[in-house]
Amino acid sequence: MQDTFGRPITYLRVSVTDRCDFRCFYCMPEAMTFLPRSELLSLEELDEVCSTFVERGVTKVRLTGGEPLLRRGIMDFIKGFSRHLDSGALDELTLTTNASQLSKHAHDLKALGVERINVSLDTLDADKFKEITRTGRLDQVIEGLDAASSAGLKVKINTVALKDYNEGELSQLVKWCGERGFDLTLIETMPLGDIGGDRTESYLPLDDVRKTLDQDWTLTPSPYNTGGPSRYVDVKETGQRIGFITPLSEHFCDTCNRMRLTCTGTLYMCLGQDSSVNLRDALRSDASKGALNAAIDKALTLKPKGHEFEISANGGPPSLKRHMNVTGG
Ligand code: SAM
Ligand code: SF4
Repeated sequence: MQDTFGRPITYLRVSVTDRCDFRCFYCMPEAMTFLPRSELLSLEELDEVCSTFVERGVTKVRLTGGEPLLRRGIMDFIKGFSRHLDSGALDELTLTTNASQLSKHAHDLKALGVERINVSLDTLDADKFKEITRTGRLDQVIEGLDAASSAGLKVKINTVALKDYNEGELSQLVKWCGERGFDLTLIETMPLGDIGGDRTESYLPLDDVRKTLDQDWTLTPSPYNTGGPSRYVDVKETGQRIGFITPLSEHFCDTCNRMRLTCTGTLYMCLGQDSSVNLRDALRSDASKGALNAAIDKALTLKPKGHEFEISANGGPPSLKRHMNVTGG
């Protein structure tokens, strides 16, 4: 698959549920309303849609959410879908998780062919963790990470850089990741969905973070490139990498190879734009998958050249109404 700008489209991110046990303040409001279960694609339908993408050339699938490990039956889904890893059609099946359920599933994930996972963790301070996630417990996440390490899963920590919350401990996080053999990706807050507050207050440009980290660590630009939005540096002292995702201060769209499927079957062609097609209706209207394939063809023509994120000044409305848990991070 290729879009109209000649970019090969090989990477599908799937939000398997919009539900979450945490309420990270930059992601959703405390009193978040979730979708009625009846609107979700069934796991069989998810398998059918994702398998169609694999048949059409997708080589990497990332499960996300909401919290993907909270979707009932998700481990059975992964078990079935891992047939594409066995056949060689799929290079990688991975997930992004808050790790609250990871201690239960880490070994099975590894046994099913998942090699690497991304775990979101913004602070190592238990009180701040509670403040940021509102409902989460740091010890549960650390337990999940321990289980991932002992299962042999490679872990990358995703950390949203937050002014007044974790800006003073990012250097310590680099050290902690180094000791545990985790890579680290730092992310700027993105203006997605109403959070019942002002995002500008916690927005921290990564340029500033980089300057602070430069004082404590020897950072050199890394040739490592996943085709994704991160720019990487190697940390000489720890031997690990740090990625920087800067959607607001730097565009990264020229090499974008990804699409995002929501748990209701809407396919978004860009995290920062509204262009989408409804695959659920296409799937349900035609058992031969003709309509599904036609809808995917249409989607490829809609992929925009780039996103248009802008963090609104003075707490104005977010650039996009959709929350991150709907499209998946
Ligand atoms: N619940 C899982 C987790 O937290 O890893 C997966 C879904 S979560 C939406 C995926 C990623 O999006 C997380 O790393 C989270 O920190 C990030 N995220 C959520 N809202 C964001 C926002 N407004 N700006 C930047 N990153 C955000
Ligand atoms: Fe849940 Fe992930 Fe959003 Fe936090 S960032 S509320 S863990 S979906």
